[in-house]
Amino acid sequence: MLFNAYFFDLDGTLYDTSCGMLDHINHLIDEWILRVLPMPRENVNSFRHDMFQKYGGTLPGLAVEYGSDYYASLRFCHDFRVEDFVSENPVLRELLLQLQGRKYILTTSYRFYAVRVLKVLGILDCFDGIIDAIDVFPTPKPAPEAFRRALQITAEPDVRRCVFLDDQPRNAAAGHREGFFSVQVGTEFAKDPLADAWIPRIEDLLSIPELF
Ligand SMILES: [Mg+2]
Repeated sequence: MLFNAYFFDLDGTLYDTSCGMLDHINHLIDEWILRVLPMPRENVNSFRHDMFQKYGGTLPGLAVEYGSDYYASLRFCHDFRVEDFVSENPVLRELLLQLQGRKYILTTSYRFYAVRVLKVLGILDCFDGIIDAIDVFPTPKPAPEAFRRALQITAEPDVRRCVFLDDQPRNAAAGHREGFFSVQVGTEFAKDPLADAWIPRIEDLLSIPELF
């Protein structure tokens, strides 16, 4: 076996963003910003862009720069019925069961939300662990620290035998730089030149020759 372990991003990687769930989370993040930091609603987008560039996400940025309660913000932005957006994915389950090696979630979202999503998708028991926003605070992906922390938490000894999968080009590039075999998933963004492989959907994972 070439690879010992797989680190999967959650949102936009294990389910398609066309279901609207990420839009809903983004709406809740906007609401949280306006609670913590009253500003004209039309300024929210550029504020989020700044936080994304500086901290890899709005919520860690709000916590570091403005003293927002990080746990409360994560709870607020993920407090909804995930069943309204995603449903069971038996094809994905079959694929994960076929894939030899340890499997982890490496997400910038909240652990309890991730568990609920994986449960609804029918794949919670396919994973060996979850590394979430709190584990990597205040340096989420694409910061190198997030990847190093993930390897440390999971005690994976050799990054060259680890695969990383993510829908965001800059995360896929960062994973490659850290030494992972990096796979970009999805058609929403163009492939980053540093990504080692690209697949249109997570269900195409078994078509990557390097994994076998
Ligand atoms: Mg993602």
